Formats: sequence, structure tokens, C-alpha cells
Amino acid sequence: MAAVDTKFVDEVNSSKSFNAAACMNCGVCTAVCPMELDLLPRRLFRYAVIGVEEKILEHRETIFSCLMCRMCEQNCPAGVRISENVRILRGYINRTVFGLSRK
Ligand code: SF4
Ligand code: SF4
Repeated sequence: MAAVDTKFVDEVNSSKSFNAAACMNCGVCTAVCPMELDLLPRRLFRYAVIGVEEKILEHRETIFSCLMCRMCEQNCPAGVRISENVRILRGYINRTVFGLSRK
């Protein structure tokens, strides 16, 4: 069973622009995504909100395969800032996995 990491929750959610919790898992983003990303945003955003860091790290290739085209965002009925949330998750992965410092 996946563990909840409170440090991860605090760090990711400390950014005021991170609003993944607004996602209601409707699936519109998956339907319009040119990369057919099924995990991102909805499932990975939920993992981020509840603090399952290992799922974020496990699926980091998916997070980095997003084109940041914002097709999903333009069609999201809940106003989720998808590309900004992805950028924040990438920053977390860069610091945690690759040892890059925050700019
Ligand atoms: S379109 Fe928006 S609300 Fe719907 S699943 Fe995607 S991110 Fe969540
Ligand atoms: S921004 Fe990323 S997740 Fe959204 S539609 Fe484009 S490639 Fe897919």
C-alpha cells in the first residue's frame, strides 16, 4: 500500500498556484490531450493532493512528457491550472531526484 508523505504534501501545496485539489476527475483533459496522457493530470494530481510521493516519482516520465500545450486546461470545467501544477511537480522531481536547487 502506498504511503503518505507529509513533507511532500507541505512542499507541493505551499505554492499558492498549486490547485490540483480543484480537479473533479471528469476526464475531459484525457479526452483532449494530444499525448493521450491518461494518468496526467487527474490521477497524478490526486496522488499529489493526498501526498503519495512514490506515485509521483514512479510516473515522472509521464510528468515530463506533457507538452504544456494547455489543451486540457482550456477545456477543464473546474479551472484547474494544469500546466502550472505540472511545472510545480516537475520542480519537486528536479529537486528530489536530480538534486537541482530551487531558482
Ligand atoms: S478536465 Fe480538469 S477537472 Fe476534469 S479531470 Fe482534468 S483536471 Fe480534473
Ligand atoms: S498540457 Fe500536457 S496534459 Fe494537458 S493536453 Fe497538453 S500534453 Fe496533455
